Amino acid sequence: PLPEHCDFTVFGGTGDLALRKLLPALYQCDREGRLPEDTRVLALSRAAYDDDAYRAIARTALAEHVPAEQHDLTVVERLLGRLHHLTLDVTDDHDWHALYGRLKDRRDFAGTVRVFYLAVAPVLYETICRHLGSGGVAADPSRVVLEKPIGHDLASARVVNDAVGSVFAESQIFRIDHYLGKESVQNLLVTRFANTFLEPLWNSQWIDHVQITVSETLGVGDRAAYYDASGALRDMVQNHLLQLLCLVAMEPPLEVGREDVRDEKLKVLQALRPMTPEDVDHDVVRGRYRSGYVEGRPVPAYDEEIAALEAGDGTTETFVALRAEVSNWRWAGVPFYLRTGKRLDRRLSEIVIVFKATPTDVFPHREGLTEPNKLTIRVSPDEGMQLHLTAKEPGPGGYRLRPVSLDLSYATTFANRSPDAYERLLMDVIRGIPTLFMRRDEVEAAWAWCEPILQHWAASGLPPKPYPAGTPGPSAAFTLIERDGRSWQEYL
Ligand code: NAD
Repeated sequence: PLPEHCDFTVFGGTGDLALRKLLPALYQCDREGRLPEDTRVLALSRAAYDDDAYRAIARTALAEHVPAEQHDLTVVERLLGRLHHLTLDVTDDHDWHALYGRLKDRRDFAGTVRVFYLAVAPVLYETICRHLGSGGVAADPSRVVLEKPIGHDLASARVVNDAVGSVFAESQIFRIDHYLGKESVQNLLVTRFANTFLEPLWNSQWIDHVQITVSETLGVGDRAAYYDASGALRDMVQNHLLQLLCLVAMEPPLEVGREDVRDEKLKVLQALRPMTPEDVDHDVVRGRYRSGYVEGRPVPAYDEEIAALEAGDGTTETFVALRAEVSNWRWAGVPFYLRTGKRLDRRLSEIVIVFKATPTDVFPHREGLTEPNKLTIRVSPDEGMQLHLTAKEPGPGGYRLRPVSLDLSYATTFANRSPDAYERLLMDVIRGIPTLFMRRDEVEAAWAWCEPILQHWAASGLPPKPYPAGTPGPSAAFTLIERDGRSWQEYL
């Protein structure tokens, strides 16, 4: 149910995430009448802005990040009217009283849903939660929203989870993985569990392997300091790619609601076969981009982009490809090939389910190619789905076979706008629906699986393999899959 009163507090209200994602998402929710009528948005930062100064910043951000055809000045003014700015250095104990006062001094404090969105560096999470607890504003129906990264490894993730968990109950904690807010990712659940014909085939008997690719053309840009301490495995695989893998591999939930989906995802993470150091050498490739050309423009090497940083031991990877296995009844023996990287040749996120070949070839004199059936789920851009089949090419003589595809494009099939992931997720936070957020045990299970990889990399000290920017990654990533007699699917 939609609450009547809501105070949406954003720590880091002047940051990139707040201005580029959160305010536009709140705008869209307001535009479509989905926000509770009595909603206030409190943006906090260290800057000495009054409400008007912050509203001017917000107005500019909305003009920039909301598509022109959805930009409605009446709605902008309504949202700006809800916005307030509070100057607060979260590390300064004295600043907090103003926030407590603002939150408590409102109609129906006890019945107000308070969302605390921590759009600040994770080192501040503990301090913020401690204050919210001691200030008496953390009790249910308050909720806290955490962004990635949750920790740097299993031990540090536990420290963060303990700190937040000492103030908020798990049911009040919403850990964002914005991939789960994407329409095509939720549609994966619907495709699997609201149709009959796929699920009987969705196992090792009929599926040969699964590929998950998240390919970026961007470099590290101005996130170099964060990225160099992290790398592609921590930044992308531990969260986004493993979450996609979970949705592909999970058992049917009893129903899509509250804990069932998260319970099933957890079981997949627990079934991931742990890697030994030999497995890491054999089944994981890491790369790092050199200079090159992306979309026709020359771009510098990763090393040049981080040259200004003090840190950096030259081992941070900007690309990972790996072969994982889910050791359970349904999936034993089916490889899951995952790859992700920056400064690659394409911007694209895609899941490909490759089915096994037919048991025998009953067209011995055929011409043309047959390819295994595939289901491609395009997460971005151009959300959609393709089912690849083999068909007969029309013609009088013999059998000429050709791969064809049934093609579903969200944009052309549905008149509705595809909302940004944050719109869905923010509304779920306000409504208190946790399904699309990562539970503590999921985050920790994902770290536990990544840990031997990180440890072996640290122990071996070997540098990542170089690849020129604008290419699909190091050649070893191709060897990884081709030695199994398979190949990365060509993008269509
Ligand atoms: P940012 O550096 O642009 O903004 C940080 C914000 O924190 C600023 O508003 C700053 O004023 C505020 N801040 C810093 N120290 C403070 C203090 N002591 N007291 C009060 N406020 C303080 O960062 P960002 O890109 O907006 O990212 C915020 C968080 O979200 C980070 O944890 C980041 O890892 C995560 N994240 C960001 C994105 C993104 O797209 N930007 C995506 C995923 C996760």
